[in-house]
Amino acid sequence: MKLTIGYLYPELFNLYGDQGNIRCLEKRLQWRGIEADVIPLAVGEWIDFGGLDLICWGGCSDREQELAAGYLREIRQDFRAFAEDGGVVLAVCAAYQLLGQYYETEHKKIEGLGILDIHTRWEQKRLVGNVVLESSLFSMPVVGFENHAGRTDSGSCMPLGRVVCGNGNNGRDGFEGVIWKNVLATYLHGPLLPRNPQVCDFLLERALSRKYGQGIVLEALPDETEQRANRFVSHNRRL
Ligand code: GLN
Repeated sequence: MKLTIGYLYPELFNLYGDQGNIRCLEKRLQWRGIEADVIPLAVGEWIDFGGLDLICWGGCSDREQELAAGYLREIRQDFRAFAEDGGVVLAVCAAYQLLGQYYETEHKKIEGLGILDIHTRWEQKRLVGNVVLESSLFSMPVVGFENHAGRTDSGSCMPLGRVVCGNGNNGRDGFEGVIWKNVLATYLHGPLLPRNPQVCDFLLERALSRKYGQGIVLEALPDETEQRANRFVSHNRRL
């Protein structure tokens, strides 16, 4: 088996080490003897969404989001079709915001891809710090680091989790992230996946099941180090 992973706009969306998520996806496939093909999807390049199994998209500043807006309009239809068809997407922070209807920054309103029924508005005070979530999808807490000015209204979307420590989508409603079909969108940097192996395997199993037939469950890996890293955040919340 093989998965093809697209890394969207790495030259712009690579804040806070989010490219570490790509490495984690790749290694957790290779450790199980599954081939991983990682393709950087450069700004302005034509993208063959039909050849991708998983899209990984990271964070960036408001300025880079404004720079990317025009290019996103060119891929909007194909990206939406990919997600509608169950294509797996991991979107972190700025990417999360741009999967929605819009992100209204301090200076302009950036049109989003309209894949998620969410919207985001900038506020002066940034939400920064460690985050711990409880999620019905995972037995381990989901942990990470947030740094965003945007406040996301996720409406009736299913959240990734309930905030146990930190701010989450907007610092008010107590939820963080969104899960929709096989799209996992979150504010959690870190990078997210190395300290949340269950989240990484969730994305890989969804992509493998969509490509090779339902119900693929990956064999467990010796995740002692990953679990220690997860506990370091979930047990030391005031870091
Ligand atoms: N620029 C967006 C914000 O400040 C996203 C930041 C990020 O990707 N960390 O909310």
